[in-house]
Amino acid sequence: MIEIADEHLREIRAHGERDYPFECCGLLIGRFENGRKVVSETYAISNAREEEAKRNRFLIRPEELMRGEKYAREKGLDVVGFYHSHPDDRAVPSKYDLDHAWPSYSYIVVAVEKGHAADLRSWEMEADRSRFNEEEITPSPFGRGSG
Ligand SMILES: [Zn+2]
Repeated sequence: MIEIADEHLREIRAHGERDYPFECCGLLIGRFENGRKVVSETYAISNAREEEAKRNRFLIRPEELMRGEKYAREKGLDVVGFYHSHPDDRAVPSKYDLDHAWPSYSYIVVAVEKGHAADLRSWEMEADRSRFNEEEITPSPFGRGSG
């Protein structure tokens, strides 16, 4: 299960629309709590792939992931997951996403249809790496507006 504020879901959707027709990606920063991921902020990063490939898959450079993890640690937080967009495709992880996923993290995928963010879903990989399971998204109290 993942807890994330509407405000952060809006940021993810906006990032997906901004980078359309390419995939956007970023980190979900927060805490692991009793098997749940509690997101307290999003961390946008660029898509490292060449222009051609950006339409189909996302890749986070190791140095960008390390920068994000350092940023999280300095705040006493962890990287709890990743988000990326699927331009003109479903909000379901691809085979490529499965092949490049790590266990325990949340993977939020937002479908962006003709430039407009649509379906948004969160996934967690099965421990044996065979598949992704959809996970429930629940509201979190960590929106900036809530103080
Ligand atoms: Zn994908």
